Amino acid sequence: MRIETEIKLDFKDVLIRPKRSTLNTRAEVDISREFSFRHSKHSYRGVPIIAANMDTVGTFEMAGALTKHHMATALHKHYNLAQYIGFFRALSASGVVFYSLGISEQDESKLHQVMQQLKPPSVIRYVCIDAANGYTEKFVAFVQKIRKAYPDIVLMAGNVVTGEMTEELILAGADIVKVGIGPGSVCTTRKMTGVGYPQLSAIIECADAAHGLEGHICADGGCTTVGDIAKAFGGGADFVMLGGMFAGHDECGGETIVRDEQKYMRFYGMSSKTAMDKYAGGVASYRAAEGKEVLAPYRGPVEGTAQEILGGVRSACTYVGARRLREFSKRTTFIRVGQQLNEVFGKS
Ligand code: 5GP
Repeated sequence: MRIETEIKLDFKDVLIRPKRSTLNTRAEVDISREFSFRHSKHSYRGVPIIAANMDTVGTFEMAGALTKHHMATALHKHYNLAQYIGFFRALSASGVVFYSLGISEQDESKLHQVMQQLKPPSVIRYVCIDAANGYTEKFVAFVQKIRKAYPDIVLMAGNVVTGEMTEELILAGADIVKVGIGPGSVCTTRKMTGVGYPQLSAIIECADAAHGLEGHICADGGCTTVGDIAKAFGGGADFVMLGGMFAGHDECGGETIVRDEQKYMRFYGMSSKTAMDKYAGGVASYRAAEGKEVLAPYRGPVEGTAQEILGGVRSACTYVGARRLREFSKRTTFIRVGQQLNEVFGKS
């Protein structure tokens, strides 16, 4: 047994220090980014915020709404073949939408079938391989296999939280490594296993490792406010993935419920009992659920939330004098704090 005593940070432990700048208004700020990748030949341009591949959030409808704001969506993996083909045939070339899969044989064969049936120019450019635990040899081998089969795709893979595993996944063929174990709003991994890593430190350490290899990272999970998204970018995240912040909208999948005259939408983790009952015929006897179900307050169309996110990130750039999101992390100084929000009138 060993103990690491260096303090690791979460979003709540820091604030971003404002800096003098020549920027006059947030309208001057460009929050889109352009990336070329270590493996893929495709280049990317857009606002690097991605709706999570959860079945309540990563829907076709969400992709349609976020594409208008140049944001991305990782689709959930439970659509059928015909649905994917119809969707990708209709997707415009500038839309950034990830096809997601796990590492089962079924998921792999569905990917091959979708790929075979789509003919240029309707192709899948972005693929996300997702496992709760990105540390297994099987996972690394799967990433290698998919990279070999599709040399041109932009491949995102995860999740991990440490530099050495980020490097291993990039060397195995990932362009973008997804970072986060346990910070999610409906995740119970930390509670069920005691495993995890404070998300801001994970981002800082994994981004550093990835950038040294011309790789990229996507900070996944734990953002509860637009300020947290800004902190993730400040810590070096190239992309930020959001689940809970996009929950409760018209574009989300799942039931709407009325309780005490308030409207809610069911939102649950993809390893929750709810999800396993729905897709895997229940929780297998050898495992425990590592996600929970909550009622997310209904918030109408995602348009309003999207505008709020874009406005907040733009404003964060203005405070540190970053004319482009690209400069944001270089201009970020975090200060450690004991309190970040004044909640005298509640938490909203
Ligand atoms: P959020 O933005 O809601 O804080 O986090 C979203 C992320 O939580 C997802 O992208 C995914 O990585 C993670 N997640 C989703 N469902 C589950 C689950 O059931 N268990 C765990 N451990 N993580 C989950």
